[in-house]
Amino acid sequence: MEESPALYFTFGIIADIQYADIANGFNYTKTRMRYYRNSLALLKGAIGGWAEERRKPEFILQLGDLIDGFNARDKRSEISLQKVLTEIEKLDVQFHHVWGNHEFYNFSRKFLLGSKLNTKPLADMMDDLTVSSPSSDCHEDSFYGYHFSPFNKFRFLLIDTYDLSAIGRGKPSVKYEISLKLLKEKNPNEDLNSPTGLKEPQYVQFNGGVSGDQLTWINRVLTSSDEKQEKVIVVGHLPIHPEATDTICLAWNYQEILSLLQSHSCVLAYLAGHDHDGGYCADIFGIHHVTFKGVIETPPESQAYGTMYVYEDKMVLKGQGHVLDRTLHYRETRTQTAQ
Ligand SMILES: [Zn+2]
Repeated sequence: MEESPALYFTFGIIADIQYADIANGFNYTKTRMRYYRNSLALLKGAIGGWAEERRKPEFILQLGDLIDGFNARDKRSEISLQKVLTEIEKLDVQFHHVWGNHEFYNFSRKFLLGSKLNTKPLADMMDDLTVSSPSSDCHEDSFYGYHFSPFNKFRFLLIDTYDLSAIGRGKPSVKYEISLKLLKEKNPNEDLNSPTGLKEPQYVQFNGGVSGDQLTWINRVLTSSDEKQEKVIVVGHLPIHPEATDTICLAWNYQEILSLLQSHSCVLAYLAGHDHDGGYCADIFGIHHVTFKGVIETPPESQAYGTMYVYEDKMVLKGQGHVLDRTLHYRETRTQTAQ
C-alpha cells in the first residue's frame, strides 16, 4: 500500500471582500455586479468552513480590500471595519492582513498602522538583523511588509504593493511626490484611474508599485532564505505576472518585482488579489502566480475562498465556490547562475 504523503500544515486564503452596507451595484466598467452587503455573509461562510476543517489552518491570508471605498463616502469606514473584524475574530486562527487600494480609500497609513489590520507584530525576528522586517516607525515613507515562518523551512513574505502610490500617503511624503509625478508621466488622462490609450495600462491610480528601498529589503530576505534552503511564498495585493491577471491590475513596476523574485531559487509562489476574476500561471522559472477571485463579485449562492494544504513536494489548493482547485508542484531547485 502506498503511504500518503505527510501534510505539513494548511492555511486559508481570502481576497477582496470589500464589504459595505449598501445595495448591490456594478463595477467601474459596468460589467460585473458587486454584492456589497452579501460579502459579509460570504466571509461568515468562509469562517464557518475553516472552523469545521479537520486540520485547523495555521493562519489565514487576507489579501487586501477588506472593506469597500464607498464606506469613506458614507463615513462608515470604522463601523464597517469593526463589523468585519468581529466576524474574523470568531475564528480562533490568526489572520495576516495585506493592504490594498480600498484600505487607502478608507484610512491613512497612520490609522492602519495603529489598527488590527497591522499584523506586522506577528513578524519573525530573524537571527540576521539585516533581514529583519522593516521597523514599524510611522513615518510617511515607511512601507508595510514582514515575513514569518509557520513551519520549518517555509517562509511567507508579505510585501507592500502601494509603497509607491498616489493614494494612502499624505504630505509630507517624498514617495507621494515621486509616485504622483511618475503616474502623471505614464498616464496623461485627466482621470488617473482611466487606462485609455496607455502603453502600460497598469499605470492607473488604483494600482501602485514597490520602491527601491523595499526591493532591497525583499532581496535581503530572499537571499537569506536561499542560503537556508527555505521555500518562500510571497504575498501582495497586486499581481505581478501579466499572464495571471488582466494587465490593468498589475503593479506599476511589476517587471522589477517579478525579475527580483525570479532571481531567487527559494521563491515557490506569489499570491495576489485585486483582479476579481482571478488568474493563474506558472512562469518560466516554475514560480506559481495565483490571483484569487474576489468575494465582492461572487454571487450570494456561491463562495470564494480556499485552503492550501502544504506537503513536502507540493501545495494543494482546495477552492470553495469560484476558487478553483489547483496542485502547485514545487519548482526544481537548481542553482541559478547570473545571466
Ligand atoms: Zn484592489
